[in-house]
Amino acid sequence: MDKVYNFSAGPAMLPREVMLKAQKEFTNWNGLGTSVMEISHRSKEFLAIARQSEQDLRELLVIPDNYHILFCQGGARAQFAAVPMNLLGNNTIADYVDGGYWATSAVKEAKRYCTPNVINVTRERDGKRAILPANEWLLSDDAAYVHFCPNETIDGIEITDLPETNKPIVADMSSNILSRPIDVSKYGVIYAGAQKNIGPAGLTLVIVRDDLLHLAKDVLPSVLNYKVLADKESMFNTPPTFAWYLAAEVFKWLKKRGGVEAIYAHNQQKAALLYDCIDNSSFYRNDVHPDNRSLMNVPFQLANSELDDTFLAEAMEHGLHALKGHRDVGGMRASIYNAMSLEGVQALVDFMVKFEKKYA
Ligand code: PMP
Repeated sequence: MDKVYNFSAGPAMLPREVMLKAQKEFTNWNGLGTSVMEISHRSKEFLAIARQSEQDLRELLVIPDNYHILFCQGGARAQFAAVPMNLLGNNTIADYVDGGYWATSAVKEAKRYCTPNVINVTRERDGKRAILPANEWLLSDDAAYVHFCPNETIDGIEITDLPETNKPIVADMSSNILSRPIDVSKYGVIYAGAQKNIGPAGLTLVIVRDDLLHLAKDVLPSVLNYKVLADKESMFNTPPTFAWYLAAEVFKWLKKRGGVEAIYAHNQQKAALLYDCIDNSSFYRNDVHPDNRSLMNVPFQLANSELDDTFLAEAMEHGLHALKGHRDVGGMRASIYNAMSLEGVQALVDFMVKFEKKYA
């Protein structure tokens, strides 16, 4: 097989250019004669990576000066706990907008620390799964913050509007960060596990508005305390240096490709190609309303689910990997993050058309 296209939902494919560069400098980074993973996180060489990556991310997402960027560990699930622990202050209530699997998971964890006001925003529209517009979300007056997940990785649902509120908005952007432009100033906290659009697993990004750094109680574990991490410039404990280095390379790659605006146009093109293929066929089906379809994760079902295993096996033979849907949803899912090329999506679509002709 000459070429393999990896549609994994995460950990997901990284830009080939970045992988080849990392391979080239694996044992001799920056002329040091050693790997970047073998040097101190406090060395001037590593600090240069840390600073450059922060600067590049600030530029890519247009992050205002009154926000800190934290390079943490623990994945997005650690943030499910860190968010209430850091933001509740003396409050006990927080709004949790529930639009899918990961938003629900955040609620489950939050229940250990507060009373979440769960706002179910999933509705059926035109026989498809849709999300209530943000101006219709029933937010409570007494919540400390509003939490939501703008891209549901498993359900393939994306929420692109924001509610009008004076409460801090907290967003789990694990699976759509850097895929489209956002206005960071509208958020209190943005967090994301790295393993889709940023780099390898092990690194977690938190972007937090400075006025929210002072609410944490003393009992909070220091490694989850935003103020501690901000004061120590993400080096309270040893950060995942190799993952951070790779993330820094992904940011450089993205800048070279024209930044977030350019990748957004590319992502729209890829998603349109795949959704059009699904919509133009009665052999494949996607159950999400077009207004809420994810640009990153495209779940689809075969009309005859008995063909699922055959589809996956033949896809593998065509170099199309990791298309099996999440166990809770079944069917297929193609994750088409920033690093996936249009060529890769075209290869998938060509295969789907061929498969349909063969089995319909
Ligand atoms: N939130 C979202 C939207 C996710 O896609 C995932 C993982 N796929 C998580 C949270 C959990 O992330 P982690 O495994 O890094 O804790």
